[in-house]
Amino acid sequence: MIGKVGLEEHFAIPETLQDSAGFVPGEYWIELCRRLLDIQDDRLRQMDDNGMEMMVLSLNAPAVQAIASPTQANSIAVRANDFLAEQVARRPDRFQAFAALPLQDPDMAAAEFERCVKQLGFKGALVNGFSQIGSAENCVYYDAPQYADFWGVVEKLDVPFYLHPRNPIPSWAQIYGGHPWLMGPTWAFGQETAVHALRLIASGLFDRHPDLKIVLGHMGEGLPYSMWRIDNRNAWVKAPKTYPAKKTFGEYFQNNFYLTTSGNFRTQTLIDALLEVGSDRILFSTDWPFENVDHAAQWFDTASISEADRLKIGRTNAVNLFNLDL
Ligand code: MN
Repeated sequence: MIGKVGLEEHFAIPETLQDSAGFVPGEYWIELCRRLLDIQDDRLRQMDDNGMEMMVLSLNAPAVQAIASPTQANSIAVRANDFLAEQVARRPDRFQAFAALPLQDPDMAAAEFERCVKQLGFKGALVNGFSQIGSAENCVYYDAPQYADFWGVVEKLDVPFYLHPRNPIPSWAQIYGGHPWLMGPTWAFGQETAVHALRLIASGLFDRHPDLKIVLGHMGEGLPYSMWRIDNRNAWVKAPKTYPAKKTFGEYFQNNFYLTTSGNFRTQTLIDALLEVGSDRILFSTDWPFENVDHAAQWFDTASISEADRLKIGRTNAVNLFNLDL
């Protein structure tokens, strides 16, 4: 299929490049660096060769979220966003942008998000999970009360918020002890991000801000497969609800969330997501440069789904959700 749009497509600036070390064996690190730092050259060739018209670009992970000093986090976010704006300006027909946000300080994050959307024309934000605030051990999730006003700003800006994975810090990752292979995309990324999404839902965030649009990668980080069970465990027990959200988890998942195919090129998994949320809420992505564009495209272009759904998932859902000029 030609004209595909991708939404989880990363780059790095020199200050954040090292954050991506360790996700590939040493002999691949030079190639990963080259891919992360390139925007206008090989990246465009990959897109041309695989029917990808546009990437909405985002900074690598955890980057800004792992900088404990709020002012330092803000300064790296601003630097990355300004760099990205310059890159997009060179090829706005091929690249658009997600903002990096210093959520260590909700007011700074809101101000930077407003600047990125209103002045730089960014299409949303991509945030790498929890933020470490003040010290490396202080991990804060965005259902916390201090983010109440921030979410109001996001809803008013009316652009999506992409909740992207990061690894848990070592002291919070004891369950993976002795099994480092479980970290990252194998398992820990999905677990971490799915729990964060469930925390947002349970907090009542989407009752207060029903127009918020949250994007999850990797075909929903396992949530489509588990959504029924989350709402229906022990259904014979009439126990009072223990969280503020008014509706079922499934209702919020179907109304406030969008899922991308990033890094999860599996038709069986796509069909489960289709059955849970429908083809209007699933969008093509690759997870470049951690996954290959050709792997994503060759799978998606031939996956056993209807051509109408292929067009929606590959292109038109993104054009509509992000108001792309395509
Ligand atoms: Mn990614």
